[in-house]
Amino acid sequence: MHDQRDHAQGDSKAEHTCPAGITGAATEAEAVVFVCARCGVPLTRPLTQLPAVPEAPYYAWWDADEPGPSPSTVPADCYAIETEPYGAPLVVSEELVPAMPRRGTISNVHGQPLVSQGPRGNIVINPGDARGLELQHASAACCGATPDGGMNQVCTCGALVATLCSDCCLPYELHLSERHVRAVRP
Ligand SMILES: [Zn+2]
Ligand SMILES: [Zn+2]
Repeated sequence: MHDQRDHAQGDSKAEHTCPAGITGAATEAEAVVFVCARCGVPLTRPLTQLPAVPEAPYYAWWDADEPGPSPSTVPADCYAIETEPYGAPLVVSEELVPAMPRRGTISNVHGQPLVSQGPRGNIVINPGDARGLELQHASAACCGATPDGGMNQVCTCGALVATLCSDCCLPYELHLSERHVRAVRP
């Protein structure tokens, strides 16, 4: 389940590197742009698919001089498909497990652990590769956004299309909703 990288495939330096960066123009043809399913406006730069969502990079946010987002989980110019449930709704869980991938544990006001029953199949990208999205806060956070309240990124047409996770103590990721975007050739 927790897939370790296949070390037979290459050296560990490649772990957080986009395939496009390694093979250059050869992968350009496979790049896609994600557009809003409602209005068709492009929401990302051309992106190439990774085999899986990388581990979030280690980041000592508690030592940072300024509060702000961590380094991005997904390298620039890439996307990956999240196979686990992500975002709202959060429901009470029998056991203490991470609420969603790379998010850690969350409890409700009664101390009961919560787990995501949100959608699977989100397209995870580097927030820096998004275009024309506006934040519409859906849950409380100290300096950024959390995924706990569900989608919080609005297209210029007004449709909710994605969930930003950008608070300082969380992984830095943008999850495009698989049901609200389409992949097109650039
Ligand atoms: Zn739109
Ligand atoms: Zn913060």
